[in-house]
Amino acid sequence: MIKDTFNRPVKDLRISVTDRCNFRCPYCMPADLYGEKYTFLPKSDILDFEEVSRLVNIFEGLGVEKVRLTGGEPLMRENVEKLVSMLSGIDGIKDIALTTNGYILHKKAKALKKAGLSRLTISLDSLDDEVFKKLNGREYSVDIVLKAIDKAVKAGFDPLKINAVIQKGINDHTIVDLARHFRGTGHIVRFIEFMDVGTINSWNFEHVVPAGEILGMIDAVFPLEPVEKNYPGEVANRYRYKDGKGEIGIIASVTKPFCGNCTRLRLSTDGRLFTCLFASRGTDIRKPLRDGASDNEIREIIAHTWSNRTDRYSEERTTDKPSKISAKKIEMYQIGG
Ligand code: SAM
Ligand code: SF4
Ligand code: SF4
Repeated sequence: MIKDTFNRPVKDLRISVTDRCNFRCPYCMPADLYGEKYTFLPKSDILDFEEVSRLVNIFEGLGVEKVRLTGGEPLMRENVEKLVSMLSGIDGIKDIALTTNGYILHKKAKALKKAGLSRLTISLDSLDDEVFKKLNGREYSVDIVLKAIDKAVKAGFDPLKINAVIQKGINDHTIVDLARHFRGTGHIVRFIEFMDVGTINSWNFEHVVPAGEILGMIDAVFPLEPVEKNYPGEVANRYRYKDGKGEIGIIASVTKPFCGNCTRLRLSTDGRLFTCLFASRGTDIRKPLRDGASDNEIREIIAHTWSNRTDRYSEERTTDKPSKISAKKIEMYQIGG
């Protein structure tokens, strides 16, 4: 097992399987910047399934146990279920999850289950149709995602995680409705503090609703109590309803950063390794892969990248003078959440 400069092992791999998306969430891929003429990566730049699968085999040997497929919108990657099936055949990978906006999930849920996907996370920032239409940038209605949730449950993904990014003055007035809707269903809504990922979402601390406020709003209506984390390094703080009707999570990446336990490595669509969500530079792994490097040589590159890792961006953002904040941070849709 490899460790970085802060003694953190690598355990979780997030793979962005496409940079494309059918939504235009203003905080990730604003419609005015990503219009009809925007050029996404050409097919030749994107890692194919054999390449991804070979890399995951190597990552597994270095300590990776969990894989999450993300993007862009991962369900827009043709035959993504084939990749799931290839990855689920790798010994040592205990968990394969996927994060989706849900728009085409109704067509894919069964196939994903059959292919061996362990868990699904569905993003849904609000149940208010007007708010949601603005937040997906395409005027799509909440109903589409609610139907996808039903399909996913019928396909055997139960319970689900529901991700909701909270922005002040945009959807914070709908937090309690989201909690109410999923209370008693077994699904876990995870309220996420709006983060300064990338460079295009005009992030400002004023737009963040601190975890404490989110908790307070829900607790005032449905009393909550804290629950121990499921495992060290879990990103969400867990709370359960005192009346036994389930739990929620709050991801306080801005106000209570958790870099000390960060075991996540990210692989971009075009085959670069990023050791932090807020990094500006990645390590190109596609070139050696395509130039005929052996597994050992690739393992060396990955191990070298991880063992030199010094990232603690979120902690620096709130505590020290940020030393590594760059104007060129990678965008969220290129490496996934
Ligand atoms: N397209 C899929 C989706 O939206 O679920 C997967 C990729 S998306 C980049 C992964 C997650 O990151 C989503 O839950 C999304 O809401 C979240 N996200 C995107 N931009 C964010 C930001 N600036 N702050 C916090 N979360 C963000
Ligand atoms: Fe697409 Fe997900 Fe980004 Fe929204 S958050 S634009 S759904 S990749
Ligand atoms: Fe990990 Fe970077 Fe996020 Fe810190 S800021 S938790 S190091 S991804």
